Amino acid sequence: MKRTITLAGAGLVGALTATLLAQRGFDVEVFERRPDPRKAGFLGGRSINLALAERGWHGLRVAGLQQRIAPIAVMMRGRMVHHMDGHTELLRYGRDDSEVIWSVNRGSLNMALLDAAEAAGARIRFERRLESVDWDKSTLQLGDDRGTTQTHAFTCLIGADGAGSALRTAMAGQIDMGERFEPLDHGYKELEIPARDGQLQDGRPQNGKFQMEPNALHIWPRGNYMCIALPNAEGSFTVTLFLPSNSDSTGNSGSPSFASVTTGAQARALFERDFADAVPLIPDLQKDFAENPTGLLGTLYLQRWHVDGRALLIGDAAHAIVPFHGQGMNCGFEDAVELAQLMKEGGSDMRATFAEFERRRKPNADAIAAMALENYVEMRDSVADAHFLLMRALERKLAERHPGRFVPRYWMVTFSRLPYSIAFERGEIQSAILRELCAGKHDLQQVDLEEADRLIAARLPLLPT
Ligand SMILES: Cc1cc2nc3c(=O)[nH]c(=O)nc-3n(C[C@H](O)[C@H](O)[C@H](O)COP(=O)(O)OP(=O)(O)OC[C@H]3O[C@@H](n4cnc5c(N)ncnc54)[C@H](O)[C@@H]3O)c2cc1C
Repeated sequence: MKRTITLAGAGLVGALTATLLAQRGFDVEVFERRPDPRKAGFLGGRSINLALAERGWHGLRVAGLQQRIAPIAVMMRGRMVHHMDGHTELLRYGRDDSEVIWSVNRGSLNMALLDAAEAAGARIRFERRLESVDWDKSTLQLGDDRGTTQTHAFTCLIGADGAGSALRTAMAGQIDMGERFEPLDHGYKELEIPARDGQLQDGRPQNGKFQMEPNALHIWPRGNYMCIALPNAEGSFTVTLFLPSNSDSTGNSGSPSFASVTTGAQARALFERDFADAVPLIPDLQKDFAENPTGLLGTLYLQRWHVDGRALLIGDAAHAIVPFHGQGMNCGFEDAVELAQLMKEGGSDMRATFAEFERRRKPNADAIAAMALENYVEMRDSVADAHFLLMRALERKLAERHPGRFVPRYWMVTFSRLPYSIAFERGEIQSAILRELCAGKHDLQQVDLEEADRLIAARLPLLPT
């Protein structure tokens, strides 16, 4: 008889996990608190589009979804930096167009994953919110918006119900999960650059319909804060403004914050001063700012991800991170692939399977959490800094001189599936080498490349192929 797996949450990670488990012969049921987005429209709530990288693509390929998602993904070749004086420059992510990331609409991706999960045989029940778990009776309490509650029996639970996971709360009633949430003292607000008016071709605009270069992640780094913009396939861009939550969070009272910029008019004044080239592109700036919610950010750390073989957390429910490496979903998709494989191979001992999953994934989740926090400083600040640009130029040079040995951390995280923990460890060693070589230097000609070769040979073994 097929084993029944019960999932809470049919977001990005839950829907992919349901697909992969159903494809591997499990009987899968999913409870999702929202209505079916394919009927009701997508009520995303946050980040309209996301950056999809190699780890995410891998999950989609394993599920057989690459062909479905590729046409709705927009290539981003690098960071298009918008400097204060208005000039822009493209800092490429990789060597060529095989090393790029992709912007994809959260709603379209989620709906494609729901279709795939159902096609594989998963049963998804929408408007069913997990409220609590009775561990003695092995039952769930599921609520809906009409105030009705149902009791439902389970044998094995997987929580993909996001950063505010109800299953996590229920598990914490059973064991000490070692939970710690570190809020970031910066929040975000989304605004929109619409597509240019005009005819669509095959339902999609031509490049001319984008008001800025479409194939880039646009970024306005301003020291302690920044704006970014990701393209959408239909020609618009989603702009995200990241600001400190409070003016005093940095000790810099001159820095804008969500405490000092509260009205649409104040937001407009901030944009006119700091993001001037974006102002004519955002016709509803004041309205968007006033009406869209301010998002909160932070990092969730847990010591335990499972209760015996009965319940396991994955995706944001286990390890929500800040979005500055564009890896939360990508990491969650890796969870889904690893879990499906372990469950397929693991036989009936779910406790051993869940423990092994936690053993393999937790060091990687911890590593990407740390790298995502570091990347915020890089994006908002260093990206416009001369010393940082020298270090990046040297990094490229050393990567060419020592392929397979000196590999930029961004490359390992974004374009490979090397464990995040290895990317993190090697990244630390490489940063130390770059700092040593660039100390007191102003351009690449001054760097001692023979010394670089010696340091690399001594400290960095060849990566496994
Ligand atoms: C501003 C921002 C930008 C981001 N950009 C990127 C990016 O560029 N690239 C990237 O890889 N990641 C990005 N992320 C991270 C990414 O959004 C998350 O990592 C990803 O959504 C996690 O997926 P999930 O399925 O685990 O959780 P969620 O997407 O939160 O899905 C959880 C699901 O569970 C449902 N649910 C919640 N509670 C219950 C309940 N009690 N019962 C039943 N169902 C429930 C929810 O309705 C939802 O459908 C970004 C995040 C933010 C905030």
